[in-house]
Amino acid sequence: TTINFNRLINEVLPIIQQRAEQKGISLTTDVTKDITMHADGKRIKQILINLLTNAISYTPENGDVNLSITDEEENVHITVTDNGIGIDQEAIPRIFERFYRVDKARSRDTGGTGLGLAIVKHIVEVHDGKISVDSKLGEGSVFHVLLPKYDKTSP
Ligand code: ATP
Ligand code: MG
Repeated sequence: TTINFNRLINEVLPIIQQRAEQKGISLTTDVTKDITMHADGKRIKQILINLLTNAISYTPENGDVNLSITDEEENVHITVTDNGIGIDQEAIPRIFERFYRVDKARSRDTGGTGLGLAIVKHIVEVHDGKISVDSKLGEGSVFHVLLPKYDKTSP
């Protein structure tokens, strides 16, 4: 099916916005024009929810989280940026593993299980996409997801 990112965001935002407000985090979105692609909306929504939930969970009160979606020639580029706790360079290769949580996060009140990013990675791979992260401890993180617009796994 054809999904429209503006519509997807309108469905995801109410859930996420509430979490952000509770922490005084400002959540902003940038979406260039009308972006559509061929994919399963439920799965793409899961990507957005998991990345945004992390950005909010691992950012201290009054921080900033941004979701940006841009239309690139063959891909849709999703970027989730936060100015939170950041991730140690040594931990970065492991955060996509199931049940892996960075030590400091483990003791936080977030109560996560360490599955969110493993699920995101799985969905991205099923769509022949790419995921990467740039992060600096104490400064913040930027997660990039590239999804090919044409998805052969979706009807
Ligand atoms: P779950 O998502 O299953 O509730 P979780 O958030 O701990 O639990 P993941 O989403 O897979 O699990 O993330 C794995 C780990 O990567 C987190 O525990 C955290 O240590 C680190 N992490 C993920 N996103 C961020 C981020 N935006 N900033 C800092 N650390 C992050
Ligand atoms: Mg998570």
